[in-house]
Amino acid sequence: MSRSAHPAGPRHADVMTEGHYSAPAADLNVLDEKVWARTVTRDADGALTVGGIAVARLAEEFGTPAYFLDESDFRARCRAWADAFGPDADVFYAGKAFLSRAVVRWLQEEGLNLDVCSGGELTTALDAGMPAERIAFHGNNKTVAEIERAVEAGVGRIVLDSFQEIVRVAHIARSHGVRQRVQIRVTVGVEAHTHEFIATAHEDQKFGIALADGQAAEAVRRTLALDSLELIGIHSHIGSQIFDMAGFEVSARRVVQLLAEVRDEHGVELPEIDLGGGLGIAYTSEDDPREPHDIAKALSDIVTRECESAKLRTPRISVEPGRAIVGPTAFTLYEVGTIKPLEGLRTYVSVDGGMSDNIRTALYDAEYSVALVSRTSEAEPMLVRVVGKHCESGDIVVKDAFLPADLAPGDLIAVPATGAYCRSMASNYNHALRPPVVAVRDGEARVIVRRETEEDLLRLDVG
Ligand SMILES: *Cc1c(COP(=O)(O)O)cnc(C)c1O
Repeated sequence: MSRSAHPAGPRHADVMTEGHYSAPAADLNVLDEKVWARTVTRDADGALTVGGIAVARLAEEFGTPAYFLDESDFRARCRAWADAFGPDADVFYAGKAFLSRAVVRWLQEEGLNLDVCSGGELTTALDAGMPAERIAFHGNNKTVAEIERAVEAGVGRIVLDSFQEIVRVAHIARSHGVRQRVQIRVTVGVEAHTHEFIATAHEDQKFGIALADGQAAEAVRRTLALDSLELIGIHSHIGSQIFDMAGFEVSARRVVQLLAEVRDEHGVELPEIDLGGGLGIAYTSEDDPREPHDIAKALSDIVTRECESAKLRTPRISVEPGRAIVGPTAFTLYEVGTIKPLEGLRTYVSVDGGMSDNIRTALYDAEYSVALVSRTSEAEPMLVRVVGKHCESGDIVVKDAFLPADLAPGDLIAVPATGAYCRSMASNYNHALRPPVVAVRDGEARVIVRRETEEDLLRLDVG
């Protein structure tokens, strides 16, 4: 759908831009368990509770806007992924989705490994005690300083992303007297989005080294020739918010083909293949995500089959879910400020946050749902657009949704499935104070990332 507006405004457009919304749910008070964290429910008074705590109490204690993260759900999802893949595979949580020291400790306790892609993420991981050998370091332009820190710390793998990086990492490893374990990230010519994927020979993007034209084979050749690098496998990450396994199938087939070429040319069977992350979650009731067990079985079947036909030993598989672990575990709680009914269009509901705490709607046209959570209501559904308080008309949190027509300023509304890529992409636009992340578990709530303060803003502004 295009978001381009008619120059004279939508009322003057020849054709009204169609909303994405389907009909309102039969009962707006019902919380679809697909999109809400596991312990979310409504209490006897109709208010939403998470981890046994009502939102009114959370709002009073922690303020709004705020992200509330269901810790037991997060841990359960980690365990589900670890169990599904079993001891012969590795699950790396993609820290860029949301990372804090508490999260790093949960990951350790639940047996997951961690992907980082910057010095800041690496520092957070190490500071919270993640063993370096369980960390993978990613990125298409790691700085020399970042590579040095990763090598010094002894990270389990660095994922090489370019020809320059092969020699850069090799040089740094040699000067530290270590043999660094590395993977090579290849681009397999698969572009996957939600319900469809496109398989091509080439991919026009910045990550990785193309399989096409023998580029990846050349990268393997150069890496194997360097003593300070230990090539442990090939890495491929094909996209995000994917439901269709067919893209992974093409990706795995092309990676296995490369493994076979490497064996034929060098007599080496690389022991690992990493199929990346990108598994989809439910943002609205229309999304149907797969369970980790299904995903694990599908991926392992694909790799096993491809290796059998190439007569290769089946490599150890790793995966890197970010969104699929943390996304569904949190919601953002907002207070309604103003309500503007626009006759014949929709009602604009303004909240006390916006694109500074959730950029995904503006950036990717992402879809979210929303619910009135401080009470139930028997009022008729009204079509709303939930917008923020920023000086920008693209400041939209939920493009099209239904809320009860008796919605009033002061009501609390919540947007579910905001655990991934919301706090981690949050900004200070308009000098907004980035909201806290509050972990809730078994009747207890604790801040794991505190709210920014005006002093924080002034501290960075050195005059
Ligand atoms: C972003 C990213 C992931 C995680 O993606 P999700 O969609 O959050 O699962 C995994 N691996 C790599 C290399 C990534 O860049």
